[in-house]
Amino acid sequence: MDPRASSVVRSALADALTLLLPITCAGCDALDIDLCAQCVAALRPAPRAQVLQTAGAPVELWSGMSFEGVPARVIRALKEDGRTPLARSLAPALAAAAAGLDAPDAVSVPLPTSRASYRRRGYRVPDLLATRAGLPVARLLRPARRTRDQRGLGREERGRNVAGSLRATDASGRRVIVVDDVVTTGASLAEAVRALRDAGAEVVGAATVAATPLRVNTSWRGTDTFQTDR
Ligand SMILES: [Zn+2]
Repeated sequence: MDPRASSVVRSALADALTLLLPITCAGCDALDIDLCAQCVAALRPAPRAQVLQTAGAPVELWSGMSFEGVPARVIRALKEDGRTPLARSLAPALAAAAAGLDAPDAVSVPLPTSRASYRRRGYRVPDLLATRAGLPVARLLRPARRTRDQRGLGREERGRNVAGSLRATDASGRRVIVVDDVVTTGASLAEAVRALRDAGAEVVGAATVAATPLRVNTSWRGTDTFQTDR
């Protein structure tokens, strides 16, 4: 089915299902509310910066929240359960992260969604979040080839898995910020920076809604149980 048609069907189905299924808070399962006051408070931005190593000069990476507890549950509900209205509650964290880069003139470039994920969900998570955050969005990145699911891969494997996987178009001379929902090791963001630079863009930095509590660019090798796929 055409992805747009399937998206319409999906959203009609989601509307129908909300009539049948009880609504629960995405953060704590409290009944009859989309997001309770306590969970809204738990999504208050607390931006922090890290250094993102790339093939060239490193860039600043800002994240609005830590990917654990309520923020992690709400992000998963947006990504995996089709609860798109939650993007509005997560957007302030992305806006705060982007503000950390202090580059209001830069356009935000979302990491691309794989064809399979777009077919399954009917929407692009990073694009939706960036739009809700009021950022000027330019979709300059495209997948150049397929990659394996990053879940369960260590940092170096992730780097190899995504190397050369993106290409940028219409990026020459533009000042850009790379945006995504969650950063784990930073491998995908670093690949996006490479592709944008190769296409002639000036990359100011990267911004994400949340960052896993483990630091980016450490030699951590564990299995990533938090990451949801793109
Ligand atoms: Zn709640």
